[in-house]
Amino acid sequence: MKVSVLSALRTVTLQDRPMPEPGPGQVRVKVAAVGVCGSDVHYYVDGKIGSAVVQYPTVLGHEPAGIIDAVGEGVNTLAVGTRVAVEPASPCMHCEHCLAGRHNICPSVEFLGTPPFDGIFMEYRCMPAHCCIPLPEGMSLIEGALLEPMGVGLHAVTLAKIGFGETVAIFGAGPIGLSTMMAARLAGAKEIYMTDLIPERVAYAKDLGATDAVNAAETDVTDWIAQKTGGRGVDVTFEAAGQQQTVTQTCETVRIGGRAFIIGIPTVDEFTIPMHVCRRKELLLQQVRRANGEVFRCMEYVAQGRIPLKKLATHTFSLDQVPQAMELVHAHQDGVIRAMVLPHGDLD
Ligand SMILES: [Zn+2]
Ligand SMILES: [Zn+2]
Repeated sequence: MKVSVLSALRTVTLQDRPMPEPGPGQVRVKVAAVGVCGSDVHYYVDGKIGSAVVQYPTVLGHEPAGIIDAVGEGVNTLAVGTRVAVEPASPCMHCEHCLAGRHNICPSVEFLGTPPFDGIFMEYRCMPAHCCIPLPEGMSLIEGALLEPMGVGLHAVTLAKIGFGETVAIFGAGPIGLSTMMAARLAGAKEIYMTDLIPERVAYAKDLGATDAVNAAETDVTDWIAQKTGGRGVDVTFEAAGQQQTVTQTCETVRIGGRAFIIGIPTVDEFTIPMHVCRRKELLLQQVRRANGEVFRCMEYVAQGRIPLKKLATHTFSLDQVPQAMELVHAHQDGVIRAMVLPHGDLD
């Protein structure tokens, strides 16, 4: 079977590996669709995210869906042929954070495509059976793969405890910013303002339900939000670009006593924050880390037609085109939102 192997910075080759056999409690997944995440691109271009440094050779990819292809000993919950979303995180389940229900911050988590664990840009991969969640009738495999990034947006909105009628600003209209916007809408946000530097993403934000969106290259974002809110600022801000400028805006545009959340993954190790702005407002400033079991809620929202998840997938690539997919996402070319790798072609 074919595997897309990263052997050095920006160096990916297709290699043959023996077909994996599922061990006890495992299933073998025929990988149907894998989203190309910004974090994959960080590892591909920079070889690291903070202290998480790639050990070559490795395999990236952590937003998968597929079809159960074989089941190991003791697995009686999944049958061959079942279409599943694959949860990329295997938390330890016994540390204080796992026991408190915060599996997404487990320090011992094994997460697909994050050093030192291989990801899933490959034709087949064995996974613990409990990571595979059957897709409801009518949900496509591409939608199944998009549940993972959507879960991050839903998790951010859950942490923010958005109340009915609140106002929101989101800086960055990539897949995570857009997911956060759609989740905020479902939570009852009244007005949602978004920004991006890419014209197609600004248009996408409006199309998917933002109240208004502007290009931050052409508009003073802090003034714009002040104008929109009569100088008050919004109740909740989300940073979803991983840039210094957007971190600053996240603090500047939220109201006094508001809540500000940083979701984006930066390439640098440190940012500054406008301390006196945050201090005078007595801001709640919180980080968001991945998702925490939101896949089930996401699935339900998509099944009910309340999230147009499919629209996030703008490009598809075959397994041998992983480098092209990475370069496209890195350069934000061609209006890309989520590029999808389909190791077996279109199985939907
Ligand atoms: Zn991701
Ligand atoms: Zn744990």
